[in-house]
Amino acid sequence: MAHKLETVAVHAGRDDLHTLGVHALPIDLSTTYPTPHLDEATASIDALEAGARTAPNPIYATIHNPTVWRFEDGLARLEGADGAVAFASGMAALTACLLAAQDHGRHVVAIRPLYGGSDHLLDHHLLANDVTWATPNTVAEAIRPDTALVLMETPANPTLALVDIEAVVTQAGSVPVLVDSTFMTPVLQNPLRHGAALVLHSGTKFLGGHGDVVAGVVATNESWCAKLRRVRMLTGGILHPLAAYLLHRGLQTLPLRVRAAQAGARVLVDHLKDHDMVERVLYPGLPACDPLGLVGRQMSGPGSMLAFEVRGGHPAAAAVMEQVELLTPAVSLGSTDTLIQHPAGLTHRVVDPAALKAAGISQGLLRISTGIENPEDLWEDLRGALNRAKEAVFEAPDAPVPLGGASTENRHGTFMKSMPHPGGSRLQFD
Ligand SMILES: *Cc1c(COP(=O)(O)O)cnc(C)c1O
Repeated sequence: MAHKLETVAVHAGRDDLHTLGVHALPIDLSTTYPTPHLDEATASIDALEAGARTAPNPIYATIHNPTVWRFEDGLARLEGADGAVAFASGMAALTACLLAAQDHGRHVVAIRPLYGGSDHLLDHHLLANDVTWATPNTVAEAIRPDTALVLMETPANPTLALVDIEAVVTQAGSVPVLVDSTFMTPVLQNPLRHGAALVLHSGTKFLGGHGDVVAGVVATNESWCAKLRRVRMLTGGILHPLAAYLLHRGLQTLPLRVRAAQAGARVLVDHLKDHDMVERVLYPGLPACDPLGLVGRQMSGPGSMLAFEVRGGHPAAAAVMEQVELLTPAVSLGSTDTLIQHPAGLTHRVVDPAALKAAGISQGLLRISTGIENPEDLWEDLRGALNRAKEAVFEAPDAPVPLGGASTENRHGTFMKSMPHPGGSRLQFD
């Protein structure tokens, strides 16, 4: 009988430990591997160059590493994939997918909103991709004979908008669909089971789970894996073995962490809905945010990411960021601690202003990545921050409270109001 998720999370990718006579994952830091038998080494390099999963001799650290390979194996098992290919970051993983797709053509269809960095990468045509931006309903009409990839994210960052993977796959026809499933992890969503060709995770987030690893990984079929390994070998965007070790260790507790954080998010959402500073809450577990009924069908749970809009726009949002004490005001997500950030000012600042507006990413929007602290402690802190923000913005706007909205620098040293939008000085590669 196939093992259940929690069992796979603990054991996957550890098949050879018994033979090696060890209990914990070995960390192989070799940059090179002895090649006393030249014919075997040459055959190995030929196989690895062609994208083989493994070979008798790893040859060189940018080509193959056993510690990284074990993590890839574990992640692939959790996603129900043939294999997985790990990279130095989520963006390195996305870059490799876009490069590998160029075998088929240069055209990419992408559904907004996406993670700000992904949007930025596509919007600057750095990789010579020709991009058509689509909505979940306009994918079919955006497809061309040279379309190599359809890119989507669900839940989308930062609005938590849900996209029906199967509906996009149907519209894409024979074009492979890549789903960025970072917000869900393999615990809550397996896009390959819904027809996606590739699933991407920023390992920096929930997979590592403790805010101390930068990584990316793509799980897919063997032919895509081979292409991605070749791109990785050619471009060198490899994952360090120490990072692979931490990620693999993190997989063991992933189901526990994801479910604990999800339970906390539900508590925060319930409280936030009733606070008079909160105009709307965006969370996949709210019926209004899941019109297609994807929670339960495409996702096994709503997850631990949520966003909400505060009354009072930018000054109020900045005040909340300033006033939290237990929550960490910071970008990123999926850590054991709860993070709060302002998408328009931080993660999505690089996105075209018109696209921000279309996606509803306003100046009052804050995004929370719920951690695994006690949820009532989190709410106590957030409620206090909301109350103090209300006081500062609406009740005593002239009081000398050092708020982000009232001065140009908040206590974290982030300039929020004085910076022009980078629209005029954005990097231009095209
Ligand atoms: C963070 C993130 C990425 C990029 O990953 P890095 O590891 O930071 O390069 C891509 N997609 C989503 C949804 C993310 O949250």
